[in-house]
Amino acid sequence: MRIRTKLMIAVAVNIIVFVGVIFFGVRPYFIEKSMEQDRQMVERRIASVTETLVNRKSTLERTLVDWAVWNDTYTFVQNQNDKYINSNISEETLENLGVQAMVFLNRTGEVEYSTFRQEDSPLSKASQQTIISDITKRLRPNLELQDGVYDSEYGPILYASHPILRSDSSGPAQGTLVMLKFVDVDFLADLSAQTKIQLTIQPAQYSETKMTLQNDGTEVVVPLDTVFQTTDFEVSFIVEPTHYQNTISMLRLGMFALLVLGLGLFLSLLWTIHHVVIRRLIEIVDELKQITLERDSRLRLSRDKHSRDEIEQMAMSMNEVLSALEDTRAEVLDRAFRDALTQLPNRLGLEDYFSTVRGRHGRIGVIGLDLDDFRRINDQYGHRTGDSVLIYIASRLNFYKEAGFVARIGADEFMLVHPGWTLEQLQPVARHLTKDLKDWADVNGVKGMAVTIGIDVFTCAEPHHTYEIMMGRLDVVIHEAKMSGKNRVLTFQEIEDGSHYLQTLEMERDLRHALEHDEFELYYQPIVSPRPFSVRGVEALIRWNHPSKGQISPGLFIPVAEQLGLISDLGRWVLEQAVMEMTEQVKRHHLFLSINVSKRQIADGSFLDSLEHVLTETGFDPHRLHVEITESEVGGNLYELQQFIHALKAIGVKISLDDFGVGTSSLSFLQSLQLDIIKIDQNFVKGIPENTFDRALLEGLYQTFHTLGLDIVTEGVERPEQLAFVLEHSSSLIQGYHYSKPVPLAQLEHYLKQTVMMYD
Ligand code: C2E
Ligand code: CA
Ligand code: CA
Repeated sequence: MRIRTKLMIAVAVNIIVFVGVIFFGVRPYFIEKSMEQDRQMVERRIASVTETLVNRKSTLERTLVDWAVWNDTYTFVQNQNDKYINSNISEETLENLGVQAMVFLNRTGEVEYSTFRQEDSPLSKASQQTIISDITKRLRPNLELQDGVYDSEYGPILYASHPILRSDSSGPAQGTLVMLKFVDVDFLADLSAQTKIQLTIQPAQYSETKMTLQNDGTEVVVPLDTVFQTTDFEVSFIVEPTHYQNTISMLRLGMFALLVLGLGLFLSLLWTIHHVVIRRLIEIVDELKQITLERDSRLRLSRDKHSRDEIEQMAMSMNEVLSALEDTRAEVLDRAFRDALTQLPNRLGLEDYFSTVRGRHGRIGVIGLDLDDFRRINDQYGHRTGDSVLIYIASRLNFYKEAGFVARIGADEFMLVHPGWTLEQLQPVARHLTKDLKDWADVNGVKGMAVTIGIDVFTCAEPHHTYEIMMGRLDVVIHEAKMSGKNRVLTFQEIEDGSHYLQTLEMERDLRHALEHDEFELYYQPIVSPRPFSVRGVEALIRWNHPSKGQISPGLFIPVAEQLGLISDLGRWVLEQAVMEMTEQVKRHHLFLSINVSKRQIADGSFLDSLEHVLTETGFDPHRLHVEITESEVGGNLYELQQFIHALKAIGVKISLDDFGVGTSSLSFLQSLQLDIIKIDQNFVKGIPENTFDRALLEGLYQTFHTLGLDIVTEGVERPEQLAFVLEHSSSLIQGYHYSKPVPLAQLEHYLKQTVMMYD
């Protein structure tokens, strides 16, 4: 919920509570009070009405007494002289007295004289007679002072009677004087005028004064017998609730004013809050959103210079937070772009650098340096030494970089980038680095330290030549260099088509598949003794029947299998397969079986492991097994090799040194291996018999090996002249196309039978 909404609700609730308190707390008090005032007023009105009526009655009685207690009247009733009537009573007299009629009764109550006012409402004699008789009935027999209102057929009539006495009030009473006054419209109007109350008169219903609360006021009924002696009438009037009405309208007005005031307060509060708080907050929120959107840590909230309120303080604090964030960001960035150990920029730093130079230079010279076996150095010499190697490399790279850029892009990987450098400039630097590192290792006693260096001249003019491509190319070079023996410098340009690397990748995938899907087969090549002819043995040679590429030469895939470590599995398969297939033939034809073994199979012990197993499984005679070790591979771990040979010899297996002449081993070294057979590489035979140098060389070899008492196999004998030369100078066994190419098992069986038949 927004602040504005919350405030609106809060203010509205306050106003409602305030109004509610007034409405339910204060209002009843005022109303109660006003009603009380109204009640008092009603009572005053009643008093006033009663008093006016009493006054009327008194006036009438005074007039009555004036006339009734008077010698002239007394005499008139005694003697009935007309003189009294003529001189005292006229129409005018009645009008002045304010009465409608005067009736003189004698002592017996009979009418002596009566007179009625005529002009307003002339009454007939009969009517007058009825009224008089009605009144006399009411008065008789009592001649005392009486008064009352009675209900005549002309409406209520107020009457009063008094005994007629002498002027000194002495009796005996000669009769009764009655005065009548019609309670007509005029009378009531007169009364109303005097009391200022609209009175009505009606036959009595109540015996006491009664007040009834009505919508338009209080209806008051006053029975007239509270004033007059006998009467069946009551007067009624309505007293309007003036105070109550005033209070109500005052309260209404007050409430309205309060609401208007509240509304005004509400609006002014909203306005103030909006202008002072919310508008500024919205500004701040918008600016913060913008800052977040632009992700520019240098942006700050705008400030209101004239204000020092809490919001401004908040904005100020936020700006401080932003500043702190910017500092932290700079620190983190620096850390993110720099390697802590060497203080060189890292991969990110390099990428950043690349993006800044890319547009400005057509090509970039790149040197990637990767330590060989860095892990071993760490393990062997400790991490402290490992660190100093890295620091040393960093310092050398910095030394050579000139205007270029150096980065550490991995644990033991560095890069030197120099826009503008060519291969001719890069290669010497690579050589220097290799040499420097070797010198350092010598000085510090770190053995076997070497680097693999990849070089590339990367053209960045082409749009697809991105940073990733550059790094990818360097990866390829270094990978290739490592695969082909480490400790070397290789340029991308040397493997430019990339086909070799890609083929290797593809072959890796296919080799694994082939192992699982039985795509390999063994061919066998006879090794023969020419004079007299006999097949003395066979060499097992692996063939790969690739489902789509056809037969692939072992010269292509064996090195890959060696690199990938697949050779152990492959070698185990060859051993098991060859022994299994050849057990029968070997026995029958008194042959030996020659098997090729890679260095890796020796190093990981896998060959010896499977050999033992295979021999016991098949019962193959170990004396008929030859193991071929390549001369070039013998240069590795001598002790390991000696152990291997020792183990084989212990069970009677013979050792054959393959491809003699390709490697560079010394004779004394070979002697220490206790070899049984030397296989002279076909390269020595190629130039025979044409090449004099080759002939001399081969002749020398034969002499040497015969002297040493070693058996010899000459490989690659294809032509009869070659065979003749070998025969002339040695008693060497022959392996070559002259006799047979390597053939599948079935064909070998055929070959063996044929030759046996031939010589039988
Ligand atoms: P290698 O051990 O020197 O085997 C002899 C190679 O010389 C064979 O090639 C054979 O076909 C070829 N050869 C024999 N006589 C002649 C000839 O008169 N003229 C010519 N031009 N060549 C001849 P292949 O079968 O292609 O084998 C190549 C290499 O692959 C082998 O050389 C061996 O180093 C390796 N290899 C083959 N099978 C295995 C194996 O099962 N295990 C291991 N580790 N290596 C193997
Ligand atoms: Ca061989
Ligand atoms: Ca060979």
